[in-house]
Amino acid sequence: MSKYDYDLFVIGAGSGGVRSARLAAQLGKKVAVAEESRPGGTCVVRGCVPKKYLVYGAEFGASIEAAQKYGWSVDNVSFDWASLKNAVQTEVSRLSGIYENILDKNGATLFSERAEFVDAHTVRLTTSGREVTAKTILIAVGGRPWMPEIKGIEHAIMSDDAFLLDQLPERCLIIGGGYIASEFAGIFAGMGVKTIQAYRGDALLRGFDPEVRELVGKHQEIIGIDVKYYISPTEIKKSSGGLIVSFDDGSKIGTDMVMMATGRHPHTIGLGLENAGVKVDRAGAIIVDEYSRSSAKNIYAVGDVTNRVNLTPVAIREGAAFVETVFKDNPTAYDHSNIASAVFTRPPVGVVGLSEPEAREKFGDKIKVYTTGFRPMKNILSGKEQRCFMKLITQGRKETVIGIHLVGDDTPEIIQALGIAVKAGLTKADFDATCAVHPTLAEEIVTL
Ligand code: NDP
Repeated sequence: MSKYDYDLFVIGAGSGGVRSARLAAQLGKKVAVAEESRPGGTCVVRGCVPKKYLVYGAEFGASIEAAQKYGWSVDNVSFDWASLKNAVQTEVSRLSGIYENILDKNGATLFSERAEFVDAHTVRLTTSGREVTAKTILIAVGGRPWMPEIKGIEHAIMSDDAFLLDQLPERCLIIGGGYIASEFAGIFAGMGVKTIQAYRGDALLRGFDPEVRELVGKHQEIIGIDVKYYISPTEIKKSSGGLIVSFDDGSKIGTDMVMMATGRHPHTIGLGLENAGVKVDRAGAIIVDEYSRSSAKNIYAVGDVTNRVNLTPVAIREGAAFVETVFKDNPTAYDHSNIASAVFTRPPVGVVGLSEPEAREKFGDKIKVYTTGFRPMKNILSGKEQRCFMKLITQGRKETVIGIHLVGDDTPEIIQALGIAVKAGLTKADFDATCAVHPTLAEEIVTL
């Protein structure tokens, strides 16, 4: 009999934690999971899933407008935030219940409370005070939104709060130029909120291909967002007419709601990691090797808490690799290269592989770049100004495809399939040999 209560104790019932717990339990391991919030984690409860519903909701306004150009009469159109919010929260609860069921069905025990380390094999459940031991512990606690400590920051909301607003403000100011800021600016603007997005840099979505960044900035303006560059907030003050935000260039903006989307940090503070010998880096992320093993030999970490590639499907793959390594005696390192991803701006972005500057830095003049930009068919009749952009980057004499960057409707769906081609190391000739599907946006990628 084991001297521990459990073979595996997982802290955090998000995407990475639940996948790991389920797979280990299915192998007959005795598994427990602690979750201080609702099962499902950021993705299900306050991230990808509810966010995408809000993007759908925002997009309907533009679609109704476009429909009129397609012959539809559309009278008395209005939008009710409370209806959408409640419908989304109902769906979130359903999905969270499914996550809970997955654990239950597979025989894993769920403790609905916070867990903190006592030592490398022991956690304390902080509500009940109960101490539990495990041979292996997996940290999958994710990240949390982070806000700079400027004066009046208590008047700002973060993305977690945005899903639960009692009502939509008339005006909103979103700080940041990353994924969350750009997606939420599109959401609020689409729902009729006068939206300003203020970013300290010169183009949104730092790290993305420069031409994608430029076009996303233009599209934000087209859908009615006032994007201001080179400014960073220094103070938020409450006034009789709302909130006044001061910026480092001396300017001020009046608004009804300030949303800080200034990044997310690993949620490691107060976990008692020092009691277990688990080391973190300067950002608070757990330092792990390629098998997701921390500096304590029986403790592993997956997902955003390790700050590698902070995406749900990556946490899931890391969790599966962890179970292979620890419970199936098959050391498996998840390969983080060529992960396709999307930003759900309006229209969205889909990317896989290297950006042009990254490709140039790595391969110099051995790269070739193919681009096209056009107004998609659907937008020509409807009069929508948003354009579609595609860039394909190849490397070497064989022209292996090493990067694809798309902006336009449905590009998250398209990039998922193209991700297979890039991951498989296909060449431009393979793309050229593939017959187009006409008329589609995606056909352009095989006719470049
Ligand atoms: P990001 O890191 O993408 O963006 C943070 C933004 O805040 C940047 O524009 C940054 O500027 C700015 N910023 C940071 N500090 C300050 C400051 N003190 N004052 C002013 N501006 C500041 O973080 P997000 O929160 O948008 O997203 C977090 C992560 O979540 C993403 O990296 C992604 O991995 C994941 N995510 C993925 C999504 C998807 O797949 N569609 C959707 C949402 C989130 P600068 O660029 O100059 O650093």
